[in-house]
Amino acid sequence: MIGNKKDLLIVSLMLAILATLACVLAWPGYSQGMAQAVKTQPEPVGSTTNTVKKTIQPLASAPSNSGWASAAQQNALLSLQLTWVFGGQEQRGWVLYTPLIARTLDIEAGADTGDFAQALARWQRGANLPATGTLDTDTLYQLIAAWQAHRLKDHTYPTPDQLITAPPMDFYAPERPAELRQVEKNTYAAYKRMVAAATADPSLGLAKTATGELAPTEKYLKIISAFRSKEYQDQLRQQNPQAGRAQLAVNSPHATGRALDLYVGGEPVSTRDANRALQTQTRVYQWLVHNAARFGFQPYYYEPWHWEYTGQEAAAR
Ligand SMILES: [Zn+2]
Repeated sequence: MIGNKKDLLIVSLMLAILATLACVLAWPGYSQGMAQAVKTQPEPVGSTTNTVKKTIQPLASAPSNSGWASAAQQNALLSLQLTWVFGGQEQRGWVLYTPLIARTLDIEAGADTGDFAQALARWQRGANLPATGTLDTDTLYQLIAAWQAHRLKDHTYPTPDQLITAPPMDFYAPERPAELRQVEKNTYAAYKRMVAAATADPSLGLAKTATGELAPTEKYLKIISAFRSKEYQDQLRQQNPQAGRAQLAVNSPHATGRALDLYVGGEPVSTRDANRALQTQTRVYQWLVHNAARFGFQPYYYEPWHWEYTGQEAAAR
């Protein structure tokens, strides 16, 4: 009997501890900072596809004491849940952009680490943002603005002598007619240099020919779409009124002959989140994120396959 009473006492004590713990966890203040950062109100944006309107919202309070652990914890959550707006549509999380973000922060560590939060805080300071180490809406929009600033600015329509017709073997669909295989000359030369470097990189495991070229059977890095004439672009818009606006934009960078859609995995050009999640995990995409700038190519963050030749080859890091 005495033994039973003792057991009862221990059990009651444990229940009391559990009840206290439950109260602490349920306390509204406990998770407020996180919830505040996650629940950001989307705002309608203008119809231009490449502009992202900045949403003003209260920032979560800076991580207090425990180094960058709490920021890292918030980032793990925000990477999947942060609500923001692009092209009038609500977007969820920024996990799809982690390769680009890590490249911008010049860090290898994952988004849920203290190192990532610390590197982000450094970047935030440079961008005149509160250095919280938390990737909130303001920070995401600033990162996007930085990426967009690197894109092609010269939208001059090419003269016929500035275009070359690339051979069918460079294309994802080799059966494309010759007029859909046109590329601006310098862009094509840079593309060939970049593909040669990728093919020579054993970590990518790309299939190659005896002479070291990308094999006809290899789909990765093949061109899906390059120069699109104004006439062709009009035609596309008439045929596919439902198609993605970015793809069929009136002032498409594809009209310059300097934008290339390259195969990086999955469905070639589908913006579905699940498809882009697959694409941004491929070694080829991550190689491009790290190396394309050396060959003068800049990404369009929202479409992992779309790369623009700006002609400014960045020095290798
Ligand atoms: Zn494109």
